[in-house]
Amino acid sequence: MAVEAGFNDENLSRLESILRFWGKNRSYFHLEAIDKNLLEELRGNFNDYREQEFEEPATTSDTRSKINTLSRVENKLGPPDLDRSAPVITQKSLPFEEAGSLVSLGMRIRDCDRCKLCMTRKTIVVGQGNPNADLLFVGEGPGEDEDKTGLAFVGRAGQLLTQIIQSIGLNRESVFIGNVIKCRPPGNRDPEQHEIRQCSPILFKQIELLKPKLIVTLGNVATKAIIPKAPGIMKIRGSINYFGKIPVIPTFHPSYLLRKPNAVGPVWDDMRLVRQKLFLRG
Ligand code: URA
Repeated sequence: MAVEAGFNDENLSRLESILRFWGKNRSYFHLEAIDKNLLEELRGNFNDYREQEFEEPATTSDTRSKINTLSRVENKLGPPDLDRSAPVITQKSLPFEEAGSLVSLGMRIRDCDRCKLCMTRKTIVVGQGNPNADLLFVGEGPGEDEDKTGLAFVGRAGQLLTQIIQSIGLNRESVFIGNVIKCRPPGNRDPEQHEIRQCSPILFKQIELLKPKLIVTLGNVATKAIIPKAPGIMKIRGSINYFGKIPVIPTFHPSYLLRKPNAVGPVWDDMRLVRQKLFLRG
């Protein structure tokens, strides 16, 4: 979508700061992941406010009313009640299975309590990237940095993933990056089977909405979540498998690469295969 005058980068980043506050810093809602229809809707609303200053912390009643208005745009609730100081209405109580977009899915799981990780997480890390991406990377689950920021793969492993993505001529903004579980296990322990079972339907819904042309699973947990009968990552990496009709190429997790730099060679081979499959449709 061509971004029109009045809805430029500066305005986008202002809008983003409002939306982050609106999400109570849970950051389920990233402009990176906003779908085009929602942007269209928000733009009309945002233009009404663009002359005004939006400052964080957004605690004034003025800002609250703007937030309420944006919330109502998403929920199609009609004109805002500017004097109201009631909590923002969201889609969180609606079933995530019926979400029609990645944004809506994020909103529907924003208070998820499907497993005990909800008691210790700071943030639900839904995943982020291009909602029209051809390529989806799936990791295991958020670590400390991700839990703090609400963004997938932003710590050391994330920086390495950025390089891996760049090695195939793409960048983070052109792909989608997600995880099997959306909440950090305390002390970065491995996710339990129950947690994986509870959370993987959300990943499957993301895949249904994103419709990627190719999925790359990073490490054992992601690979087994997508390909239940998969052998260990040592055996399966670098091969082409299927999730429904979508090809899946497993490779090592970037955290493993940080511990075993020699594994860079195989990952490079795997990325050559990804490039071939994505660009040559071989
Ligand atoms: N490791 C993962 O599997 N996912 C993240 O988001 C970060 C580290």
